[in-house]
Amino acid sequence: MASYLVLCLAFLLTTSAEFVWRHHTNEQLPVILEDIHARCPNITRVYALTEPSVNGVPLYVIEFSDNPGFHQPYKPEVKYVGNIHGNEVLGRELLLGLAHYLCEQYQNRDRKIRSLIHSTRIHLLPSMNPDGWQLSTETGCVDYLIGRTNNHSVDLNRNFPDLDAITFEFERQGINHNNHLLKDLTRLAAPLEPETRAVMRWIMSVPFVLSAAMHGGDLVANYPYDESRSGAPVSEYSASPDDDTFRELAMAYASAHADMASATRRGCHTGNSEEAASYNFGKQGGVTNGAAWYSLKGGMQDFNYLATNAFEVTLELGCDKYPPASVLQQEWERNREALLAYIWKAHTGIKGIVSDDAGFIQNAVISVVNITGPVPRPIRHDVTTAAYGDYYRLLTPGHYEVTASHPGYFPVSRVVTVPRHQTAAHVLNFQLEPTTSWFDDETSFGIYPHGLRDGQPRIYKRSIYEQVAKTMLDRKESAKQ
Ligand SMILES: [Zn+2]
Repeated sequence: MASYLVLCLAFLLTTSAEFVWRHHTNEQLPVILEDIHARCPNITRVYALTEPSVNGVPLYVIEFSDNPGFHQPYKPEVKYVGNIHGNEVLGRELLLGLAHYLCEQYQNRDRKIRSLIHSTRIHLLPSMNPDGWQLSTETGCVDYLIGRTNNHSVDLNRNFPDLDAITFEFERQGINHNNHLLKDLTRLAAPLEPETRAVMRWIMSVPFVLSAAMHGGDLVANYPYDESRSGAPVSEYSASPDDDTFRELAMAYASAHADMASATRRGCHTGNSEEAASYNFGKQGGVTNGAAWYSLKGGMQDFNYLATNAFEVTLELGCDKYPPASVLQQEWERNREALLAYIWKAHTGIKGIVSDDAGFIQNAVISVVNITGPVPRPIRHDVTTAAYGDYYRLLTPGHYEVTASHPGYFPVSRVVTVPRHQTAAHVLNFQLEPTTSWFDDETSFGIYPHGLRDGQPRIYKRSIYEQVAKTMLDRKESAKQ
């Protein structure tokens, strides 16, 4: 085992303030982040998620923003999550490299990087599964499965609440409700692991707009849904209401990557030429719908979309799950533009603030109808406003009717055009008027018909679903004791 360790962690003993491309240990990881913070103290913050891994390793995040630690209106929040499978390690090192690069370029007065950090709050979690990484590294960095799971042998990307089952059931029943579904969850299929709980609390406490999870074993950007509607294990395209937008997000990464979208590259699974051809995702632009590849339940990607306002895709970064340290720098060069291009996608579509005379309206609902074609197409996935009444709605170029609503107010609809090649989301603010100022006597008018869309208005209060999550988590914790 000792000789394997030497092999995996070659050049480990070379210490330098400069960033070195190698596999960083769980002990080195926070040192690297603190070092970056020391060099860029005004635009970074290092923090740990609410609970550590099974073995007690903290899950560290580095945040980039011109006001670290605070959400700001009109500023979308983005996250990258690496190393969710412990033996898939490239994302972990790419995120450390990205953190170093953002700090360095900011100091070098790189105009694009400065603009990105001034307009975006970026969170990087290099390793969600440090225990799996440790096991994989200690056993030679070669096995296809050892170290994939956490220290309880649980696959973290199967451990999130299965909200797909809820949304598919609502579809079957014709119930038009397809967002913030955690409060509709009645039971968990399996106990939540500490790493899953920590990430769930993170996902639900920060108003993320855009996210990507990093894996290895193939080269493709995979988008929701990951779970098939019929239960078919493979080859069933499972479109979400935001299928157009998700495909565009995945393509933004794939097309900016060195060869993810190349039709002429070799596929990863090269047993024979026919099989190799069938697995080359480059022939479909380097992207795939999750369930069209293979179906999985309890994934993090679908959970983001169905529990919160965040849109997440899954990046498979290469055929080799544990590439040797010697290729890490080359992999960085191959991924750098894609990593940046993807973050910029948080600035597409529309954003704005919903307010009334008194101030911001939190938890207002933004619903959208695509009116680009001859037949209007409602996108049945609403987003909600954050603490400053601010919302972010990722959309593909086209024409849309956008409605802001909240119980107790008249809804307001506006038509907007989303242009091509955006570097900033189109700003669309809404001023709502309370129904009570129009109808003082409730009894004369009965229940207000205003403010309703497709039946009863739904109330999305962050406090409600946080409460639900907390109750659920606490119940599980006490059940385990
Ligand atoms: Zn994976």
